[in-house]
This record gives sequence, structure tokens and C-alpha cells, in this order.
Amino acid sequence: MRLCVYCGSSIGNHPAFAHAARELGVLLGTRGDTLVYGCGGQGIMGEIAHATKIAGGRVEGVIPEALVGTEHAWEGADERIITQTMRQRKQIMDDKADAFAVLPGGFGTLEEVSEILTLKILDYTDRPVVFLNTAGFWDPLLALFEHFYATGFAREKYRRHYHAVQTPEELLGWLDAKLKK
Ligand code: AMP
Repeated sequence: MRLCVYCGSSIGNHPAFAHAARELGVLLGTRGDTLVYGCGGQGIMGEIAHATKIAGGRVEGVIPEALVGTEHAWEGADERIITQTMRQRKQIMDDKADAFAVLPGGFGTLEEVSEILTLKILDYTDRPVVFLNTAGFWDPLLALFEHFYATGFAREKYRRHYHAVQTPEELLGWLDAKLKK
């Protein structure tokens, strides 16, 4: 599997976030999967990339030139693509992915997951999107989605476009089943 992971360039203030990212990385690496991500060397991005690589997986990072310094672009990636723009970064990550996982993060992560969900809703893609809801991190966003349905700004059938799980094992199990269909 080529899994595109959207996640924070920061580490967060609860050890469970980094722990879950490392756990997912170890599972990906052990399975021989490929991690596609934003090439950051720190934060949740760095945690999952390092763990995937150490466990034997392939890591492909995509980062705009302007962010190589600020996001401490990781030099250990098997493939490192430097783009001119953020849009190119996101497009390349999208092109490489069989599926998308969303780990705790901030505005950048929110932007990325909003776009992929919008593309799914508009039928541009049908690849799976799964939230790793570590320590209930995504509960407020999932509640906002419920608010969209309750207030008539989104259709309840859109719930089928995303799924939330509690653990990395559950995440991969759900994706395996989805991708087999
Ligand atoms: P954050 O969740 O704010 O820590 O950001 C996570 C990652 O998303 C960082 O690598 C950001 O550079 C990246 N990001 C933010 N906005 C965009 C965008 N429009 N396209 C691609 N990547 C983005």
C-alpha cells in the first residue's frame, strides 16, 4: 500500500500523538508499505517517517523549496521531491497515494483533509480517507461535520466518505478491507 499521511509539523502536547504516529510507522515499515508525506523532519511528520524507515518501509517526501528549512526537510527519505509550490506538493502526494490517513495536526493538516474530502464528495476520487482519532483528537472536527448535516449544509450520505478509528492497527485493518473490495 502507498499511504499518504496528512499530519502535524508540530509534535502536540500529549505523548499519545507521537506514540501513535510511531506505531503506525512501525506497522507500515514491517508490512513493507510506502509512506507518502510532506517530508518534514520534525513533529508528527518526523515521528512517522523515521519509524517507517527504521522498520523497513519506503518513505517518499514531497516539500516546497521554500519550506525545506522551516519544516526541517528530512534527508533520510528514499525519495525526496522538492516542488516550487504548495499546490504542486499536494498534487504529487495525491497522485502517489492509494489511500489517505489523517493524524493529529493543525491548520495545514486541516487544509489537506478538507481538500481530499471535498474531492471525494464531488466524485473526483474514491480512495479511502481515515482519521486516526488518537485520544479523541478529531472529535471536534467530526462534531463539526455532524453540525453540517444537522444544519442542512451537507448531506448525511457524505459520512461514507470518511472513517475514524482509535488505533493504528485498526486503521490498517480498515484500509486493507477497503482496498480489497
Ligand atoms: P500543520 O498541520 O499546520 O502542522 O501542517 C502540516 C503540513 O501541512 C505542513 O507540512 C504544511 O506545510 C502542510 N500544508 C499546509 N498547507 C498546505 C497546502 N495548502 N498544501 C500542501 N501542504 C500544506
